[in-house]
Amino acid sequence: MTGSLTIAGLGPGSEALITPEVSAALGSATDIVGYAPYVARVAPRDGLTVHASDNREEIGRATDALRLASEGRHVVVVSSGDPGVFAMASAVFEALEASPQWQDLSIRVLPGVTAMLTAAARIGAPLGHDFCAINLSDNLKPWSTIERRLRLATEADFAIAIYNPRSASRPEGFVRALEILREAGASERLVIFARAVSTSGEKIEAVSLRDARPDMADMKTLVIVCNSATRRVGGWIYAPRSAR
Ligand code: SAH
Repeated sequence: MTGSLTIAGLGPGSEALITPEVSAALGSATDIVGYAPYVARVAPRDGLTVHASDNREEIGRATDALRLASEGRHVVVVSSGDPGVFAMASAVFEALEASPQWQDLSIRVLPGVTAMLTAAARIGAPLGHDFCAINLSDNLKPWSTIERRLRLATEADFAIAIYNPRSASRPEGFVRALEILREAGASERLVIFARAVSTSGEKIEAVSLRDARPDMADMKTLVIVCNSATRRVGGWIYAPRSAR
């Protein structure tokens, strides 16, 4: 029997934002692999084995998924949002690099709606001009790299989507990030705090960076630091199509 490995994005939380392609893959899977809260979003059914794991063990989880597929299972590795954005797709390819015996497996990556696009759509169009995305977690890269990227992105006047802004174990990172953004001259820019977008806990706030407080973000928040041309119209916030 020939197995397969599908790496799928479940979107930001709402059922309506799961793509039909991802629903079909979940419907024909024999095994679901992923971080426990994401796996819990897949409806249980007969014939479906669920492998829920810890958040930190990404490469181990990816290797387990490849092994199952090599044994003939139809495995779906799930991420929230998009699997290629700070998520499992890279981990699977990293595991594949270390395991050449599995390189002929049938693998697909199915995109999902990532948090920054959902957040942006809720408030208007803050990513309508050039933008970048930065993961504030320093689990997998040095903090000095994060600081440098925040500084240079501000200097270049990108809108900046910040993923993983704040954890209980590392609250000082986001405090420092706000300081860096102010030092880099962004105090007048709008900042959007979009929490748990597309779920019942959704909350969206927009303030100037000058008034932004670290406690406005938690691990369920996506932060968008707008570019300097971004403005309000009615209840909306948008980046104009042209920039200086
Ligand atoms: N692959 C995911 C991102 C995983 S990193 C994606 O494409 O969206 C986890 C971070 O994503 C969280 O700390 C938060 O910053 C952001 N995030 C994920 N879902 C979110 C949601 N529903 N609302 C706001 N932010 C979210």
